[in-house]
Amino acid sequence: MSARDTRRRLATELAAAAAAYQVAAVIPHCAQCAKPCCRLDVLVLELEWKQVKVLWKLGESRPAFDRRLAAGQGPEEIRAGNGLYYAHSKPCPAYDQSCGACRVYGQEAKPEGCTDFPVYEDGGAVIADLRCEAVNLDALTAWLARAVGPSWRIVSSADPEFPFLVTLEVKRGGKG
Ligand code: SF4
Ligand code: SF4
Repeated sequence: MSARDTRRRLATELAAAAAAYQVAAVIPHCAQCAKPCCRLDVLVLELEWKQVKVLWKLGESRPAFDRRLAAGQGPEEIRAGNGLYYAHSKPCPAYDQSCGACRVYGQEAKPEGCTDFPVYEDGGAVIADLRCEAVNLDALTAWLARAVGPSWRIVSSADPEFPFLVTLEVKRGGKG
């Protein structure tokens, strides 16, 4: 197998392992989470227009909505930029606070960032966001090591600027 094929295979395995970790360790914790990410008091939700339209139940056109935003007529938690929208500081309208669940789970209206948070594969490594209290870095490292097998080791490094973002890379050479 060529080096490129190996990298591709590892990326696929890491993506599957990250998704499985979310299902096994993160999602079951969401209902009792002390600081739910969907409240958006810490996290910023990145949205496409069609997602804003569905989640905020908007009847108006995009230009009309943009004019309203630009005029400071809200929704105050949404900012526009780079062709996208960013929501922060108020709970996501799809968040059911009574049971800690997402009302658009598994639907197109759910932003990609929600599916990725807090553990996802990117460019052949796994990114873990430790702002989610359900993420246990040691357990996640062991989980990924099991997924890729004994010929590889997992090396973690925190982002210097945002240390809650940890990159887990796969290196040759077994335990380490
Ligand atoms: S921060 Fe983590 S545990 Fe809490 S609601 Fe979000 S994904 Fe679930
Ligand atoms: S779309 Fe769902 S998962 Fe994403 S912030 Fe809103 S409630 Fe949470």
